[in-house]
Amino acid sequence: MVRILSVEDFEKIKNEGVGYVLITDKPNSTRRLHRADCPHVDYNNFYQKVIVNKEDNGGYYWFKDRLHALNELNAEECLVCKR
Ligand SMILES: [Zn+2]
Repeated sequence: MVRILSVEDFEKIKNEGVGYVLITDKPNSTRRLHRADCPHVDYNNFYQKVIVNKEDNGGYYWFKDRLHALNELNAEECLVCKR
């Protein structure tokens, strides 16, 4: 698991489209897993949540392995990009 903390890291993951991105949201108590190329892995949301709000309301994490994220972190899969 890698915390995504910079715009450079986020753009690299989006450009490569490899692996999975877990987005956590504290106010809604959600932990949702997306493929890196899912449209819900969105730059503006990332920027607001991680850069502007400094992860106060949740964060972005990158995983190479889908099952690892689902099993160990009890994440739910996004219905848009689940395959
Ligand atoms: Zn998704």
